[in-house]
Amino acid sequence: MLRIKVFVFNPVRENTYLLYDRTKEAVIIDCGACIGNEKKQLSDFIHEQGLTLKHVLNTHLHFDHVLGNKFLYETYGLKPEYHLADEAMPGLKDGIVDFESFTCKYDAVFAEQYIEDKGLISFGDSCLEALSTPGHSPGSLSFYSEKDACVFTGDALFRFGIGRTDLWGGNYEELIQSIKNKLFALPGNTVVYPGHAEASTIGEEKTHNPYLKRI
Ligand SMILES: [Zn+2]
Ligand SMILES: [Zn+2]
Repeated sequence: MLRIKVFVFNPVRENTYLLYDRTKEAVIIDCGACIGNEKKQLSDFIHEQGLTLKHVLNTHLHFDHVLGNKFLYETYGLKPEYHLADEAMPGLKDGIVDFESFTCKYDAVFAEQYIEDKGLISFGDSCLEALSTPGHSPGSLSFYSEKDACVFTGDALFRFGIGRTDLWGGNYEELIQSIKNKLFALPGNTVVYPGHAEASTIGEEKTHNPYLKRI
């Protein structure tokens, strides 16, 4: 059974997910650790639980989801894995964040291995399937575990919300198609773990998401 530890990191309050099972092998989805003792909090947890990190995954490459990638690379020697389509994102190589009152510099770490639609990520007894869910960004991925009935949707689908589509490469129609064809095709009891705020389920979003009532 998959264990899921959620950290809420950086001023954008991004959800960083650490997944592991009884084998103690782990993956991290969207490491946003950046300020204060966030990095220490994360590495202390990994150490205390005796986990071995196997993969660093990104649902997409917006700064709030990748701020901790350098730390993970330096600490655990793992490069992030994500969809190639997000690499053309302007400003990514500059690594400068200027967001509201929050300014910081980070060094982007680039993938050596990319993830495509239907790609499988294995660790321990567990497996995640990558679902290409573009629209919030061209390379947006969701990570699905059928066995554990959960999906990590990044900024594509939120509890009672959907991702914004006014940023680089965003496309509203594409986002709606991704949600309708990929995410809403999953069983209703699948728990949705989004990139921000609380979890939900596919069933709940199908019936109560005000942005998706019409589809
Ligand atoms: Zn985003
Ligand atoms: Zn985000």
